[in-house]
Amino acid sequence: MTEQQLREQMVTLARSMFERGYATGGAGNLSLKLPSGDVLATPTGSSFGRLVADELSVVDLDGNLLSGKRASKEVAFHLEIYRNNPNCNAIVHLHSTYLTALSCLDNLNMDNAIRAFTPYYVMRIGELPVIPYLRPGEPRIATELGKRAADYRAFLLANHGPVITGVDLEDAVDNAEELEETAKLMFLLKDHPVRYLTDDEVNDLKGRGK
Ligand SMILES: [Zn+2]
Repeated sequence: MTEQQLREQMVTLARSMFERGYATGGAGNLSLKLPSGDVLATPTGSSFGRLVADELSVVDLDGNLLSGKRASKEVAFHLEIYRNNPNCNAIVHLHSTYLTALSCLDNLNMDNAIRAFTPYYVMRIGELPVIPYLRPGEPRIATELGKRAADYRAFLLANHGPVITGVDLEDAVDNAEELEETAKLMFLLKDHPVRYLTDDEVNDLKGRGK
């Protein structure tokens, strides 16, 4: 895809997420790797419902603004993920309702906040490690994500929200939607006995296409 097509894709996918309630107000941010190797990102404070293709931020991997409006300060942690995972070409960060609710629970399993109970979660995400609470914008969020970036497709920032990666923006958005729906199912099922997938069933799914 050309840079112009990628810009238009970001606007379209962001608006779609906004219209279906995955993003509200100015919360959350998106980024993707451009063919040039630089990063296209949502500007600071921008609503997913009202992005303008020509105003999107372009930054280099060191965070220097090359064109467009100033990028969200949270883009710093996107860059650290790109630097540590060459297979990641797009990132979605949301404050979506169910994943953010999950991120606020006490006694989360920090190695994996969602134990697998559907095959789709295993195929798209696998495991969801938790980054301990840090003030939004704190540089250590980037450091902590960078350490784990090569090993996971998604992360949960405690008391904050999810960070989801993909091979391209469409993939990252699909992964984000699958993960949010999985968190929603978790809350729907909380008073019911759940049959979790067994280790054998999880291993059978790993490495399979989505
Ligand atoms: Zn955030």
